[in-house]
Amino acid sequence: MELLEKVKQREDIVRIVSTVTLAAIAVRSFIKGKRGRGLLAAGGAVAIGATTSTLKPTALEVAREEEPTGETETPSEAEAMSCVICNEPIVIGESRRPNENDEIVHESCL
Ligand SMILES: [Zn+2]
Repeated sequence: MELLEKVKQREDIVRIVSTVTLAAIAVRSFIKGKRGRGLLAAGGAVAIGATTSTLKPTALEVAREEEPTGETETPSEAEAMSCVICNEPIVIGESRRPNENDEIVHESCL
């Protein structure tokens, strides 16, 4: 069972690295003032850290799912884009353009 032992050791290292990475992202985000992303990364670090101490076999799967969230943009950024003329959200693929005040509006609203 030497191979299994090695695999388990590697999984532990991955968990620890993930925790440290997310913690680093959290600290960096807090410094930059991106509190939302910082909290997200901190939450991930805590979640992985918690599973590391219990050593559940699913911890690695959790780590894989949570790692990308540290780098991807939050959906609120996309939701925040709405037309200043009609106040309707601007959906991706809809024709839009900045008006004279550099605000994004529907092309049809101009
Ligand atoms: Zn509009």
